[in-house]
Formats: sequence, structure tokens, C-alpha cells
Amino acid sequence: MNINLTLECDSCGEPTNCRIGMSNRPEQPLRFACKDCGQVIDLTLRMHSADIDGAHQIETQTPFDENTNFVDLHLDFPVSFEKYVMGQTPFMMAAQRIGVDEMMLHGARLRHLDEFHDNKRTFNTLLKHYTRQKKTPFKLVAKRAFDVDVISDAPQDFNAALYNLLAIMMWPFALPGDNANTVDLFMNELGKARQASKPELEAFIAETIDTRFLAKLQSDCLDVYPRMLASELALRPALFLDFDDAYSNNPIPMRVSADDFQSFKDLYKDIAEVISRQFVLVAGVNNLIKRGNHNTFFPGIGLTKSGKDFTPDSLDQFAKVDFGKKLTFIDDSWYQLEDDSADNQLRNAIAHFKTEYDDVTQIISYYPQKDGLEAKAPKTISFLEFMRRILTAYREMHRLHHLIKALFYYRYLLMDDASKQEAT
Ligand SMILES: [Zn+2]
Repeated sequence: MNINLTLECDSCGEPTNCRIGMSNRPEQPLRFACKDCGQVIDLTLRMHSADIDGAHQIETQTPFDENTNFVDLHLDFPVSFEKYVMGQTPFMMAAQRIGVDEMMLHGARLRHLDEFHDNKRTFNTLLKHYTRQKKTPFKLVAKRAFDVDVISDAPQDFNAALYNLLAIMMWPFALPGDNANTVDLFMNELGKARQASKPELEAFIAETIDTRFLAKLQSDCLDVYPRMLASELALRPALFLDFDDAYSNNPIPMRVSADDFQSFKDLYKDIAEVISRQFVLVAGVNNLIKRGNHNTFFPGIGLTKSGKDFTPDSLDQFAKVDFGKKLTFIDDSWYQLEDDSADNQLRNAIAHFKTEYDDVTQIISYYPQKDGLEAKAPKTISFLEFMRRILTAYREMHRLHHLIKALFYYRYLLMDDASKQEAT
């Protein structure tokens, strides 16, 4: 179903014709900016009421004429910035971009997000119980709210229950088959590291656990999940792009109909930060497989043309290096990052407040150069593309979270030392 209405901007008085494709969400917060003056206009639709901020509704002349400003809006899909064409509704346009099966899969993901909308709070609480090791409330709530059993008090069973919960709640954000492939890869590579040197692999795992590096990293991963769920409305168009091959080949600007860039820039930065720390584990395992010691980097890998050698002396030193440099210190890495999942220039620009957002065009300009008063050479990406980067970065973080899980499992199940219980 579509609604046509006309809103007059409170700042400049210009009208905008809106064609709104309805989602199944009971409450639909939509946002766009007045094309003439940039005023942000918020429109929240509910079953029997609506709130409008930044504009007010005036009488609609249908069909829409060509000269009045126009926006297509739909929570569930990216929509066109093009002119009004009768009949080319957001849903029709989306359906033309991908196939019927893919439309159904996208719909299934959105239904899951709608159905579990009310469970978000309970899920957040459960993650907190897990991090604080509140075993009894964790067990009770996991069973009651999600029908997830914790089969014993052993740490590996709590760990297993945690990942079951994540699989249930976060399913719409996953790529089909991704988790299974990832777990296979980690088991395989840890097997190689074990073959290279079992005592050294175990020393590596003991170090990451005894220093609480692994627990802290896991807790930082767990903090990301509720934030992804809280961002789901603005992520829906990015989820749609999983199926949109034409977009992958030619990323044209399309509109995201909820919220704006400012609300999500920290999320991207924080996920990138977690990935950067997860790469300490990737480097450790790489060093183990290749040289039988997690602290030993490939000799001279950090050698510059001027003869200075920045090769890290230890994994601890590596941990302090910027993410962009980290990647250059891992020789022939066993783990490959997905494209675009960790754009260091974008991350740096956000961290150093060097971004600008145009509410009308939804274009983000960012300035990768760190220094100087003059803002030089901006790069640009659309808000939609930015949300897709968040999704890709999230998936990378989630994949590497399985490595954390695998290391904990190794400790719980395969190492027999007295500190096992402390590590929980
Ligand atoms: Zn205006």
C-alpha cells in the first residue's frame, strides 16, 4: 500500500510531494530534507496517528505534478532520488531490481526483525548477564524468552548458549552459510597451529585469556549486537543490497528513508576498532602457523625504503599499531578481510571529526588527510553505501567473534591446567 501526501516546509514554505510505501512495522519513522532549504523533516506513521516535525501537511493535488519537489519513501528498500513517475512505487522499483526469491528472503528477514522487535531489551539484558557471569538469571531468561537451554554449569555450555542466542537474534544480518564456513576455517587453521607447536599454541591462548584480552574483546563484540538491532530500520535498505547485483556493479545513489548519518558514524568507528583488536588474534595465529611462535613476525616485514625497521617485536607491540599498518605486518595471511569491511580512511575521518553530511542528497564527504586547516581532497559516499559498510564491517566482526569462541573452547575442552576455571 502507498500513501500520497504533501508537506509544506516550516522553514521556507516550499511543498514536497511524498509517496510513501508502507512497511509492516507498526511505527514507521521516516526522514528526508527539504530540497530547497535543507530543513530536516520527520514523519512518524502509526496505525491511527502520525507526527510531523519540520513541516505540516497541506492539501494534496493528485496526480503529483512535475514541478513540485518530490520524495519516494519506504523503510524496507533503498528508493530512487528520481522524479515522480506514476505507478513506479518504491515496492515496484525494488521488485524490479532483484528476483522473486530474493524479495521473499528479504521479506523473511524483515519479518524476523519485526517479530523480535519486542525481545531486544531482554536480549540486551541477557548479554549483560553473560558478560557479568550472572549464571542463574542468564539460564532462566535464555530459556524463558528464547527457549535456549544451558545444559550444564560448565563454561563451554554457557558459551554455546550465548552463540545460540546470537544466531537467533542476529539471523537477519547474516549471509547464508557464512557462520558454518567460518567455523570450519577456524578449526582448520587452529589445527595447523597446533600441529606447528602445541605448547606454543597453548601459551598463546593462555596469554590472551590470563591478560583478560580475550574476555574484554568478547565483551566489546557483545556490545555491538544491541546497537545493530537498534539501527535496523536504517540498515534495511543495506540488507536489500545483498541481493542487488546491479548495485554491486554500479553503486548509484539511492535514498535511505529513516534517520541520518550522524546517528551511525560512531557505530562504524567502534566496529572498526573491535576488528582492529580482533586482528591481534589473526596475527598471533598467523605467526604460530608460519613460525611456531605467536610473537614472531616475519623478519623485516616492517622494513621501510629508508632502512627503518618497524617489524613488531611481539604481539603486544603489534596490538598498539594502527589498523592500516597492522594488515601490512601479517605475511601471507590465513584470514582474508571482506572487501570494504574496514575502510581505515573513513574510520580515521570519523574519529577526527572530518566528515560532512548533506541531508538533501544524503552524501557524506570525508577528509582522509589528517592535518592542516584547509580541508583538502574530500572523498564521498552515500548514506546508503555507508550503512552497507556498517553491515559488512559488522559481518567481519561477527566472523572473527567465532575465532574468540574457538579459542575459549580450546581452553575449556582441550587444555588441562588448573587455571581453566579462573578463565571463565
Ligand atoms: Zn524548506
